[in-house]
Amino acid sequence: MEFVKFGNKYIVRLDKGEEIVETLKEFCSHQDIKLGWIKGIGAVGEATIGLFETREKVYHSVDLKGDYEITSLLGNISTMDGETYLHLHATLGDSEYRVQGGHFSRGIISATGEFVIESIEGEVDREFNDEIGLNLYKLK
Ligand code: FE
Repeated sequence: MEFVKFGNKYIVRLDKGEEIVETLKEFCSHQDIKLGWIKGIGAVGEATIGLFETREKVYHSVDLKGDYEITSLLGNISTMDGETYLHLHATLGDSEYRVQGGHFSRGIISATGEFVIESIEGEVDREFNDEIGLNLYKLK
């Protein structure tokens, strides 16, 4: 990974073999970014995307392997229990130009990854919501 910072924005390059979610989480933690947004494009050779089933309150996920373009990765940065918390979604395009997408939990860079991380001054924590079954923004 390499990065440069301009104002409150970081331009980040991830390199072949790096896992996106863990690498970005560590980066945000090291840079002390507690609130913000992430946008990115690039290419992955492996990825895990998921869907939250609202009725059963469980995540289903699928592991993908092959050449995929990250046509869009979008997500946010917050905290939970004092730790950096990333919530990422992505759409991935395959060799037949079909796109699959969902909650993004893992992706291994196969060529390069280009991200913008925007840091917002402040802090928003999360807490588990029983009714929904997810870790929601705690805004009051
Ligand atoms: Fe999600």
